[in-house]
Amino acid sequence: MDLSLFFAGTAGSTPSARRGLPALLVRRGAARILVDCGEGTQRQLLRSVGLADLTDVFLTHLHADHWLGLPGMLKSFELRDREKPLTVHGPPGMTALMERMRPVYGRPRYGLTFRDLEPGEAVRRDDLEIVPFAVRHRGVAFGYALSEDARPGRFDADLAERLGVTPGPDFGRLQRGEVVAGVRPEQVIGEARSGRKVVVAGDSAPTDAVVVAAHRADVLVHEATFLHEEADRAALTAHSTARQAAQVAADAEVRLLALTHISSRYSGGEIRDEARAVFADTEVPRDFDTIVIPLPERGTPQLVRWDARRAALAPDPAR
Ligand SMILES: [Zn+2]
Ligand SMILES: [Zn+2]
Repeated sequence: MDLSLFFAGTAGSTPSARRGLPALLVRRGAARILVDCGEGTQRQLLRSVGLADLTDVFLTHLHADHWLGLPGMLKSFELRDREKPLTVHGPPGMTALMERMRPVYGRPRYGLTFRDLEPGEAVRRDDLEIVPFAVRHRGVAFGYALSEDARPGRFDADLAERLGVTPGPDFGRLQRGEVVAGVRPEQVIGEARSGRKVVVAGDSAPTDAVVVAAHRADVLVHEATFLHEEADRAALTAHSTARQAAQVAADAEVRLLALTHISSRYSGGEIRDEARAVFADTEVPRDFDTIVIPLPERGTPQLVRWDARRAALAPDPAR
């Protein structure tokens, strides 16, 4: 199953000409999960992969740069005659805030639900689990760990046949855990293979909570609002420097670190260089870049730069 992260907005606090406010689209099979929805997010999506019928929205916290785009987007879904229900999840206080925005989007017919989560309260979507955890920021703020269930081990059909099992229904029985013709499943089925894990830390000062949640994640999306020369300012505002984010990634032993929430004072290159000195497998996506996450045995996560021309030829099938 395809899994990728589409960076719809990579700025922090205020947008710039080149970077929109925070929004990350997680694309997994037919699922379209949006994490944060800064002002302008729907236009960012329309200009790139299209405004898909999102399946869920998760807000990391209630600072305006992370949600102000949502009321307008909810209204647009209604105007487009969306039919699929939508749930918006967030930290405590999110539902009350969105209710105050009700005059903007009214009572959409598609079935809109708000759900405040507590840390550790998992949301399950088929074989994907999304778990919020508290990070270190001003006010209550969450990161989200998105984890796929473990996959069954590889079935060795050749070996099963050599051991005397007839291909066909008996193979299915073995794979469901039954003993067939004296052959036990564990003789022909390998160990369970772990699913993929993506952690989106949201806004946070460096914290062990992220190190724990992101342990061995395929991708950690972490903020790097400042360079380390601004470490005092980062501490004052409960943000991270590029160097601090890289240390979190190193401690968590992730496969790839993606830095976002970039202050408009930086172009991105200096953020990347500072982080790579501590953690080499770091990328700083620009708006509309994608990180593709293959199954672990098929390769490592890769940053794919946005190519507007190619995208026009192959639009998102779920848009
Ligand atoms: Zn922010
Ligand atoms: Zn914030």
